Amino acid sequence: MNIIVNNEMAPKGLLFIISGPSGTGKSTVLRVILEKRPELRYSISYTTRPPREGEQDGVDYDFISKDAFRKKMDSGEFAEWAEVHGELYGTPGRFLDEAFAAGHDVLLDIDVEGAKNIYSGYPEAVLIFIAPPSVEELEKRLVNRGADSSRAVEQRLKNSKAEMAEAHHYHHVIVNDDLAGTVSKLEAIIENARLK
Ligand code: ADP
Ligand code: 5GP
Repeated sequence: MNIIVNNEMAPKGLLFIISGPSGTGKSTVLRVILEKRPELRYSISYTTRPPREGEQDGVDYDFISKDAFRKKMDSGEFAEWAEVHGELYGTPGRFLDEAFAAGHDVLLDIDVEGAKNIYSGYPEAVLIFIAPPSVEELEKRLVNRGADSSRAVEQRLKNSKAEMAEAHHYHHVIVNDDLAGTVSKLEAIIENARLK
């Protein structure tokens, strides 16, 4: 888990790191907030996971092969990377450097391990955990999303236990019960951080 920290590139903008179990609603919440707040920048991760129906290459993720991912790892292109649910995911370091240099506030949707790694390099980052209302509701959302095989849903549910156990390390925990309420809470956290 490679971390590139260049102090000369210290962020001028704010960094918001969002984590939570798969199916909790992170992408949905981020989609809404990015529409409402076009000044925010979302870091599009690289992944080896195949696209889900409706996902667009270069918008939701940059979908690449395992070989291409490993080449990027070897050439140090990732600010962090992790294996999550059996696939590789990585945050492009160059995007972060350029966004911060331009003074933008950046949102990352990354897993708990990636969050720890990035946070150790950017201790000013704001850590936000989005939790499901219950395990039963999480399972319902994963199944209703209809994007993953039943095996993948099972694995994601199983992994959610370890992910939930990391929630107390985060500055904020939002239970994504009502979507509009979650978006408002996230907006309030962003506004608060900007005032500091
Ligand atoms: P994640 O990005 O965390 O894996 P998604 O954003 O893909 O999760 O959401 C998983 C499913 O849950 C989607 O079908 C989405 O429409 C639904 N969902 C998201 N937020 C809520 C909510 N607050 N209430 C009910 N369903 C939700
Ligand atoms: P999904 O396959 O459901 O889109 O995402 C699975 C998990 O990978 C989620 O926990 C998501 O936050 C995480 N993830 C997405 N992009 C990255 C990344 O660039 N780095 C890390 N460490 N995790 C990521």
